[in-house]
Amino acid sequence: MRTHHCNEIRPSHIGQKATLIGWINTVRDQGGVIFVDLRDREGITQCVFRPEESAEAAEISHKLRSEDVIQVKGIVRERLKAEGVDTTNDNLETGQVEIVVASVTIVNKAEVLPFQLDKELSNEDLRMKYRYLDIRRPRMTRNLRTRHRVTKSARDFLDEQGFCEIETPILSKSTPEGARDFLVPSRLQSGHFYALPQAPQQYKQLLMVGGIEKYFQIAKCFRDEDLRADRQPEFTQIDIEASFVNQDDVIGLVEGLLGRIFKEARDTEIPASFERITWKDAMDQYGSDKPDRRFGLNFVDLTEELKDCEFRVFSGAVASGGIVKAINAKGFADISTGQIDKLTKLAQAAGAKGLAYIQARGEERDTWRSPFVKRMTDTEVEALRNKLNIEAGDLILFAADQWEPACDVLGRVRLACAEMQNLLEGNTELDFLWVTEFPLLAFDEEEGRYVAVHHPFTRPLKEDEEKLLKGELSTDLRAQAYDVVLNGNELGGGSIRIHEAPLQSAMFTALGISEEQAQEEFSHILDAFKFGAPPHGGLALGLDRLVMLICGEESIREVIAFPKNNKGSDLMSLSPAEVDPKQLRDLRIQSTAKKPTPNGAPA
Ligand code: ASP
Repeated sequence: MRTHHCNEIRPSHIGQKATLIGWINTVRDQGGVIFVDLRDREGITQCVFRPEESAEAAEISHKLRSEDVIQVKGIVRERLKAEGVDTTNDNLETGQVEIVVASVTIVNKAEVLPFQLDKELSNEDLRMKYRYLDIRRPRMTRNLRTRHRVTKSARDFLDEQGFCEIETPILSKSTPEGARDFLVPSRLQSGHFYALPQAPQQYKQLLMVGGIEKYFQIAKCFRDEDLRADRQPEFTQIDIEASFVNQDDVIGLVEGLLGRIFKEARDTEIPASFERITWKDAMDQYGSDKPDRRFGLNFVDLTEELKDCEFRVFSGAVASGGIVKAINAKGFADISTGQIDKLTKLAQAAGAKGLAYIQARGEERDTWRSPFVKRMTDTEVEALRNKLNIEAGDLILFAADQWEPACDVLGRVRLACAEMQNLLEGNTELDFLWVTEFPLLAFDEEEGRYVAVHHPFTRPLKEDEEKLLKGELSTDLRAQAYDVVLNGNELGGGSIRIHEAPLQSAMFTALGISEEQAQEEFSHILDAFKFGAPPHGGLALGLDRLVMLICGEESIREVIAFPKNNKGSDLMSLSPAEVDPKQLRDLRIQSTAKKPTPNGAPA
């Protein structure tokens, strides 16, 4: 159908015959001569219909409309460039040439599109309804092709490292990854359900017991969670597991993998290895387990300096075993009342009672605007000035509470403050980082029991193994778990696993899973660990988020061909939808839902 694609013809082709096929990007009538910009996924070529070259083609050209699919045959010519007239276009790679059309076939007419393809469209619902048209836009085409490059280079790299791509079941069993499962009713065994995998965690570990040694999969995962900008009910991971490895081996492998992906998908060299920071230090310095280190606003500890402060918010927190921390937002003393309110609300939403601040308008303390500075001694003010390096024009923001909530609140305030101050404007840095030594357990106040911070198969640090076996539980137990972070985004995470039945049983007990329940739900894993399970570990990278960052997009929906909206609906195919009652009868299922909403989603 074509001799060249629409971004191929160059001055070296002048005089040659060419056949192109594609969509009409634009049609322009210039004094009876029709110019068509013909587009395919590679680019655009200008085609000219001159009556003197072909009366028939020129005649047809008057009927052409945007997005018609046409095939043109003609001769490559140089575009006119003489004194006073220059028809060349430096913005197009084919901008020095054009096709003078000898014949044209209208392959398929297009109706007027619901939106223009050459303009950004803010109505996302409309884009989703006509996603196949949205994908025609160069930005979407580029994103999906970049996604292909990412998965291709991951496959190539892992293959070269000896990893085998192995599929694991989609119809599987409920797994304890921490989110709600999507369930699929079984017709053959009524009353029984499959669960869609939240991750292939148990299967990949069982492949290690099976002696595969090096596994990977571009794995679809399903989690029935409330959706956010960077979450989808179904998403993709580059899922990896290997035997006879320690944490350094997994980290080294993933650094190599990311290096290859960034080189091939973005033509960017990244460091051969990334800095590592423990979870404890990340929280202590940045108030986040995925710190964005591209701007300052580092935490300064003031617990000692403010422990006797007359302002009870500070001294009270310290007296009850807590801490006081602050950040200095340089030059932001002129923050508006509205912005202070916004930061305060954010702190409150994260569990703080309020947000203490100082607007240091001048050098002297009497120029400082703050609800509490007058209750501080000179020594305390001097300590603040020195430790926080306070100068005229600075804004100081505080958090005072127990260590973890105080760090968490100040971490959120820090990010919001950086955004208000536009600290990342024009920043093109790629800051990769490992966060290690995550806690093994967290205490769930609501359920009154410990839960796994990563998942129940994660191994404690050697030093903490004994404690787990003895049931000496606390949130201080650390795990051989690691996350890889890029610019404040978690790219992925993993751990070295438990591979012995007694340690795995101890972990289940720690999580309040009874022996019977463990046998019922996890006997396959516990049994497998009795038959010579190799030491193993792995990690999963979130493919959607990785591609989003590589493409410079803000939402993973921009890098998924057919995503769901924030209600979990596909507006194009209108799923989820009601089904034929017969289908439910076959499954012996009856819906108790009231009235469905117009797009079929349950009310
Ligand atoms: N299965 C884990 C997850 O989805 C990743 C891993 O531990 O390999 O978070």
